Amino acid sequence: MLISDLLRGKGGVVATITPDATVADLLEGLAAHNVGALVVSSDGRHVEGIVSERDVVRHLRGAGCDLLGAAVATIMTSNVHTCTRHDTVESLMATMTEERVRHVPVLEDGVLGGIVSIGDVVKSRLGELEGERDDLVRYITTGG
Ligand code: AMP
Repeated sequence: MLISDLLRGKGGVVATITPDATVADLLEGLAAHNVGALVVSSDGRHVEGIVSERDVVRHLRGAGCDLLGAAVATIMTSNVHTCTRHDTVESLMATMTEERVRHVPVLEDGVLGGIVSIGDVVKSRLGELEGERDDLVRYITTGG
């Protein structure tokens, strides 16, 4: 299965935040979109970083409540692992496991075209496995 198949089901909308927005704004954005990470982008098209709940938790430890007023750029990850629509879901699973990231933006000619979370991957793999199981049961019980 390809990333393009997975995006067909969920669409290409990506929730973004600008690097100069505050961590308080980030918390609003995460809650409003009901997601665990936002892509950091000044124009909503080009990726400058990614910031997840985990970044907030890690930095809270050192900065305490002052963190809420800090810029997103100070806690984001700049070296972003991305994929394309032509990559396989299997290769994305390997990236998520090896790099320990749960969100991977999809780029088309360097521009944001979607995002895949570990939840999307689990959902698509479960669907695939259930389909295979149904086929096998049908084969065993009806002979084809
Ligand atoms: P996550 O597992 O997505 O909550 O993110 C865990 C850590 O990896 C955080 O520090 C994120 O900023 C970072 N991160 C998340 N997604 C990516 C990605 N696609 N590329 C690089 N770093 C990421």
